Amino acid sequence: MSIAENIRVIRSRIDEAALAAGRRPEEITLVAATKVQTSETIRQAIAAGITVCGENRVQEFNAHWADGAYEGAKVHFIGHLQKNKVKYLVGRVALIESVDSRELLQAISQRAEKLGLVQDVLIEVNIGAELSKSGVRPEEARQLIQLAAELPGVAPRGLMAIPPAAGISGGNSRYFAEMNQLFVDIKAKTYDNRVSIDCLSMGMSGDFADAIAHGATQVRIGTALFGARPPMRANG
Ligand SMILES: *Cc1c(COP(=O)(O)O)cnc(C)c1O
Repeated sequence: MSIAENIRVIRSRIDEAALAAGRRPEEITLVAATKVQTSETIRQAIAAGITVCGENRVQEFNAHWADGAYEGAKVHFIGHLQKNKVKYLVGRVALIESVDSRELLQAISQRAEKLGLVQDVLIEVNIGAELSKSGVRPEEARQLIQLAAELPGVAPRGLMAIPPAAGISGGNSRYFAEMNQLFVDIKAKTYDNRVSIDCLSMGMSGDFADAIAHGATQVRIGTALFGARPPMRANG
């Protein structure tokens, strides 16, 4: 199937999952996870209706950015981010989804202040408490949202999670439910009226319908749009 056809199929499955959960399809953003894809493929996806690309690696982002590949779409950064690479992203990406430390949050805020803008961010939660994954504990997420609300250069918009790879359908329901609870809780407790906590980013090719049933407002999908990727290498 072509990318355009895949996008159509996935978008309709997203819409069905939303309706099944009593939600409006427009509440859910499809983020195309474009790691390892070429600028040409990214252009094709945008031409076929993708409005947000999710990038994992700063190096790939820089190359596609230089190519003008993202024209017509926004970019979210969804990979592990080092402080020294913040300068490449702030002001260029609409959302940094993977903030996982105080220091990173401060570095993003400082860079944004220097550029005279406010960078939207999500806090990444390691909901499965996996050693191999980035992200903070749920309790720390509350503190980082609070800190982000106080820092001048960042605006906290919500939470992101990558639960353990589920072996069976519905295998991550418990993690998605925990994330939703945390999200609702944080939303209720963040009173600052300059802050709007409205993004819950979770769900990938294998489990997005389940994530939507549990409140996801953004799903990040790669394989189901672009096909299987070659084995992962380390972050770059
Ligand atoms: C690759 C990736 C995805 C998409 O995963 P698929 O299973 O290919 O849909 C989503 N989120 C993040 C953070 C990723 O790195």
